[in-house]
Amino acid sequence: MQTEILDFFNQKDAALTKAAELIKNGEVVAIPTETVYGLAANALNAEAVKKIYLAKGRPSDNPLIVHIGDFSELEPLVAEIPEKVKKMAAEFWPGPLTMIMKKSSVIPDITSGGLDTVAVRMPESEAARAIISAAGVPLAAPSANLSGSPSPTNAKYVFDDMNGRIPLIIDAGPCKIGVESTVISFACEPPRLLRPGGITPEQIIELTGDIEIDGAVLNRLADTEKAASPGMKYKHYSPRAEITVVKGSFEAFYNFVKDKDCFVLCFDGEEGHFRNALTYGRENDSASQAKRLFDALRELDEKGAKTVYARCPDISGVGLAVYNRLIRSAGFNIIEV
Ligand code: AMP
Ligand code: MG
Repeated sequence: MQTEILDFFNQKDAALTKAAELIKNGEVVAIPTETVYGLAANALNAEAVKKIYLAKGRPSDNPLIVHIGDFSELEPLVAEIPEKVKKMAAEFWPGPLTMIMKKSSVIPDITSGGLDTVAVRMPESEAARAIISAAGVPLAAPSANLSGSPSPTNAKYVFDDMNGRIPLIIDAGPCKIGVESTVISFACEPPRLLRPGGITPEQIIELTGDIEIDGAVLNRLADTEKAASPGMKYKHYSPRAEITVVKGSFEAFYNFVKDKDCFVLCFDGEEGHFRNALTYGRENDSASQAKRLFDALRELDEKGAKTVYARCPDISGVGLAVYNRLIRSAGFNIIEV
């Protein structure tokens, strides 16, 4: 299969027409969102959704997020809309927030990974919204990487993973946020944070009161534990390089790595101290780290890095999402110096 790339800004009519036509015909199209690029298909068409799992090599018990363009599109997808969801939607939709509810019968089992719940998000990105509207159906869309690889934040990285596997990529430039959405379940009480993202626990608690933070957010699940969010149990966001997250001051980090034959993943301005270094944002700016992290992980592979030591981010605010992705990319290899 030839994979075509159309530019959303320079070829808008062609991009929207072609994307809508493919999606209506049950095909998969890679689309930009403000978080990361997604692999989109008609969420209500089981055969179409199956093609997403095939293109990614994603395990079939790992459910997909359904993307909508307007709040009125939520009702048919779920058994009921909890009050807290209405409140959260009013504040954070459109935006990087995914909410899980009991599903209705229109959601095929393959979309929900066999669960009786469905995850729904309303993206903010102009391109994503235009594509949802042109397709006229809710779009199931996981991140547009091969299963296990870092999520792509630009069309080139989508192409690297998906060339020959899907017919079309819509390019709208780099993603604004750079890590995937916050996932929170409202199918339980108190609501449970399953994956940290662009909307922070602090912001959610302020609006809805107490939430629980799922154990898989900060720790590796034991083999015997059942994952509330199936995606959290799989190896994730991993470059080929072997990464170790190093907790401690810059000075301690420097002394630890200075005589090692390795690559360093550090903060902006620190790179001059090392022979082989890539940066992922400013030390006290979690949003800048989120925007850079997945790109930096792919660049490490492009540079042929084998052993990588990474500076540990602060975990408050969006930093929790950065830390969550980084420790997974490191296979939970964390040391303290
Ligand atoms: P991705 O599509 O790559 O952004 O991954 C979607 C994430 O949402 C995965 O970690 C899934 O396990 C999680 N997810 C989606 N639907 C559900 C659901 N119904 N219940 C729990 N987690 C879900
Ligand atoms: Mg993913």
